[in-house]
Amino acid sequence: MDHDEFRRLGHRVIDWIADYRERMATLPVMSPAKPGEVRSRFPAAPPARGGGVPAALAALDRDLLPGITHWNHPSFFAYFPANASYASVLGDLLCAGLGAQGMSWQTSPAATELEEVVMEWLRQIVGLPAAFQGVVQDTASTSTLCALICARERATGLAQRHRGLQSGAPALTVYASDQAHSSVEKAALLAGFGRDHLRLVGTDAQHALRLDLLEKEIEKDVAAGRRPCALVATVGTTATTALDPVAGMAALAERHGAWLHVDAALAGMAMALPECRWMWEGVERADSLVWNPHKWMGVGFDFSAYHVRDPELLTSVMSTSPAYLRTARDGEVRNLRDWGIPLGRRFRALKAWLHLLDEGVEGLQARLRRDLDNARWLADQVDAARDWDRLAPVPLQTVCLRHIPTDQRDEKRLTAHNLAIAERVNRSGKAYLTPSVLKGKQVIRVSVGAEATGRAEVEALWKMLKAAARAV
Ligand SMILES: *Cc1c(COP(=O)(O)O)cnc(C)c1O
Repeated sequence: MDHDEFRRLGHRVIDWIADYRERMATLPVMSPAKPGEVRSRFPAAPPARGGGVPAALAALDRDLLPGITHWNHPSFFAYFPANASYASVLGDLLCAGLGAQGMSWQTSPAATELEEVVMEWLRQIVGLPAAFQGVVQDTASTSTLCALICARERATGLAQRHRGLQSGAPALTVYASDQAHSSVEKAALLAGFGRDHLRLVGTDAQHALRLDLLEKEIEKDVAAGRRPCALVATVGTTATTALDPVAGMAALAERHGAWLHVDAALAGMAMALPECRWMWEGVERADSLVWNPHKWMGVGFDFSAYHVRDPELLTSVMSTSPAYLRTARDGEVRNLRDWGIPLGRRFRALKAWLHLLDEGVEGLQARLRRDLDNARWLADQVDAARDWDRLAPVPLQTVCLRHIPTDQRDEKRLTAHNLAIAERVNRSGKAYLTPSVLKGKQVIRVSVGAEATGRAEVEALWKMLKAAARAV
């Protein structure tokens, strides 16, 4: 492909994206594709001869679009929002176009320094103290893995440099709530703690971690000669956006010399609103914190913000400095390869930078308030409806509800009934939501927050849910 062809095709790609977004609302939100359906449209062997890109663009609509679930659709209410604003799309395009690899400062100083600028802006936006330094990771899963590895290394005086976890030292334990994201369990296992040393502590009626139970678990471990190593507080759990008591957990972490990691993957964005900051009171006492601008904020996947209070520890744990990576500037600059697991790094700061320039903090705040308001509205409708139940508080933008037909108390039947409602809505293509199970109860989970979702879509969803409940 030469420059001119790139120009020609590139314009077509941009037009295709804009056309796609313009008509997205008319497409079925959840892909109706069956397993193997997309794969069967492609040749089994690679092309022998080149020149096939123009034809591929034509095949986008025919072969790939049916296999796409439209995360930016105005009636996307599943999982958590993963918005990709136009501005961030342009940033990603520039990142790809520059093709720069930002593993070290020297390998593209702008990639490192714009990331420093953007992470500092994000710190200010969510109101973290200046003591926190930030770095971009691909996902919250990776950020939490980094946190637990650092917790392990701090507790063992950097044992990785000697016998690692094989020195026969006391077992290290990790604590999170039974509502913590699966990435916390995965990180604990990958970081070598072992499932036997992961405590998933019980939660209260609001689905938040119970401090009294946490304290008991810790005391039991200490009495048995184990060492409490890390506490993970979730601010905004995935099921219901429950808020763990960060300040209380910080006090326990401090008392036992344990690491406190805060997982605010979705809810971190809400802290751009001063009226939400009470939700993570005590956060300034955390050792590390992750939130995902690639969720509610609108920065296209993948962009996870990882903030730490002790970057020196992070770089001690993560750095390897073989001769071929060393440069004369190493003493004066950040080499972001030492701030996480991968060596190679994309220039992700571009998409966040453009997104922030486009929306401004006030634009972000207005959109967040709109979504909070819409979720509140839906919660109020559910509360006012006699045969609908709300199963969790709504501090943010997720509403967990279920339909209870008159006199129906049988959990099995309620499960089947509510699954059928969700399935009917999803199969209609008009909206997409995810059913979930909350402490044994089947719920329909409505997560508001796609960039294009307004009150009209939330009202339409409520109508659809009621109609589906009558029909199934
Ligand atoms: C979405 C989510 C995660 C995982 O995010 P990834 O970036 O996909 O790894 C972790 N924790 C919570 C609370 C989440 O909601």
